[in-house]
Amino acid sequence: MALRGTVGALPGQHKASAGPGKGRSGRGYAPCTKQGERARTTVPRKGPFMAYVIAEPCIATCDTACVSVCPVECIHGPLPIDEIARIPEEERTTRLARLQLYIDPESCISCGACEGECPVNAIFDEDELPAEWGHYREINARFFAERA
Ligand code: SF4
Ligand code: SF4
Repeated sequence: MALRGTVGALPGQHKASAGPGKGRSGRGYAPCTKQGERARTTVPRKGPFMAYVIAEPCIATCDTACVSVCPVECIHGPLPIDEIARIPEEERTTRLARLQLYIDPESCISCGACEGECPVNAIFDEDELPAEWGHYREINARFFAERA
């Protein structure tokens, strides 16, 4: 099943940042969000290179805002993106209760554009991934390995 797709912002979708992410060259984060205040403990790399990682807050939110800004279309999910995007916001917590999107570590160019688009701060540079979500690096990579 083809999973690639590009969608626009959903009605009522929140934009956490108007500009692109910081990329790997800068380490500044949007200030004072709940997730933004978490301790940012460096998690040792265990696998192949991965630039950005989608972590737990995406689950049941999954609004696809990140997809539309990714220049290399490397963000995918278990359902076609346009199908996910059509689910009304008020139904997401139930219909997407266990669903999130993932970043392909083989294709991500580490531009950081997606990071600031996420309304729930679910996207992290792998070097800044909170320790409690360190396993999401493997979860993202495994999603694409199992699709191959
Ligand atoms: S950091 Fe990676 S996943 Fe995010 S927009 Fe850039 S290429 Fe896409
Ligand atoms: S990572 Fe953030 S922006 Fe992307 S689909 Fe999940 S909740 Fe939406």
